[in-house]
Amino acid sequence: MQHSKIVGGSTAKRVLACPGSVALVAKMPPQPSSKYAEEGTMLHACMEELLADSDLGDVIAKHALTSEQAEKLEYALQALDEIDPDQKMVFNQEVEVSFGDALPDVFGNVDLIGRLGDRVIVLDWKFGDGVAVEAEENPQGLFYTAAAMHTPSLAWAFNGATEIEIVIVQPPYTRRWVTTFERVSGFFTDLKRAVAIALRPDAPLAIGDHCRWCTAKPICPQMNGAVDRAVHTALKDIPDEALGQALTLAAKLEDFIADARALAQARLEKGLPVPGWKLVPKRAVRQWADEGKAAAALRAAGVDPYKQELLSPAQAEKVTKKAGVPFPTEQVVAVSSGNTIAAESDPRQAVVVIGEQLKAALSKVK
Ligand code: SF4
Repeated sequence: MQHSKIVGGSTAKRVLACPGSVALVAKMPPQPSSKYAEEGTMLHACMEELLADSDLGDVIAKHALTSEQAEKLEYALQALDEIDPDQKMVFNQEVEVSFGDALPDVFGNVDLIGRLGDRVIVLDWKFGDGVAVEAEENPQGLFYTAAAMHTPSLAWAFNGATEIEIVIVQPPYTRRWVTTFERVSGFFTDLKRAVAIALRPDAPLAIGDHCRWCTAKPICPQMNGAVDRAVHTALKDIPDEALGQALTLAAKLEDFIADARALAQARLEKGLPVPGWKLVPKRAVRQWADEGKAAAALRAAGVDPYKQELLSPAQAEKVTKKAGVPFPTEQVVAVSSGNTIAAESDPRQAVVVIGEQLKAALSKVK
C-alpha cells in the first residue's frame, strides 16, 4: 500500500500538531516492516475476504491464523453485525481516498466506507494490541472522511446523507462517534493550513503525544533537546507532583531510543558508518545439529529425550476447535502476573489497593 509523503490518515495527527515533521520524516530511510505491521496487513486482508463472503473457517485455515488472531476477526464481524444488524449497509472496502486538486499528493486508504440510511459510516479496523483508540475527534477518521468527501467515486455514500459516523473496531473494543459535515469541513480547513505550513522551509516543530510514531525522532532537534534536558534532570530533584509528567516524558524517550537503535542497525547493515558503533553477532544459542540423532543418543544413554507438557489454554482451544470437541472453558482462569503502571487513558480498570486504602481510613479513625 502506498503512503502519501506529506500526510495520510495515520500521520494526520502529527502533521497537524508538528508541520515541520514532514520535511524531517522525508530525510529518513524507509522503515523496515515490523511483525506487528505484517500481522495487521494480513488481518485486514482476511476481513476483506470475509466481507466478500468467504467462510471464517476457510479464512482461518488459509492464513494459518492463531486462536488470538481468529478471535480478533470474530470480534470484528460481531462489531459489524451490531453496526448493521439488518445487513442493509452498502459499502466499499479498501478504497483509496484523496483530496484531488484541493490538496495534491495527499491521500490514504479507508478500510470500509458505507451508507446506512441517512448515515455515512467510515470504519477503521485496528488489529494491534496497543491502547484503545478513541473515535471522537480522531484525526485519522476525520482525515479519511474529509478525503472520501473529495473522492468522486464515493459520491454515492455522501449524496443526501445527514450525518457521519466514524467507527474504530479494535478488538476487544469498538469506539463510535457520530459527527457532522461541518466538523469534517473544519478539519479539512485545519489540514490544508497545516500542509501549507509544512511545505515552508521554516515549518515549526512541536513535541507532543504525536511524536510517538514519528520516524524522525533520532534526527529531530526538538526531541534531542528534550532528551538532553531529561538526562540533566536528576530523578531525585523531581517533585512528586511532577512524576506523572516524568513518566510521560519517559514514554517519549523510550520511543526515541527504540527508533535510534533501529536506525543505527539499519545503517550498519547497509555498510554505512555509525561513529562509535558496530554490528556484532547476537549471543549464540546451543541447539541440536540433528534432532533425530540427538534423541537416539540420549535414549542410548538411558535418558528420555522428550518431556511432556500440558497445552496452554490458547493451544488447547485451537486443537479442540479443529477436532470439533468441547473446550473445557470452566477449567480456565485468567491470572494477572502483577500490577503495572498505565496512563489514565488506558481502558483497563485501575487496581484497587485495598491495604493502602484501609490504612488511610484507619489513620483517620484514630
Ligand atoms: S519527533 Fe516530534 S517534534 Fe520532532 S519532528 Fe517528529 S513529531 Fe515533530
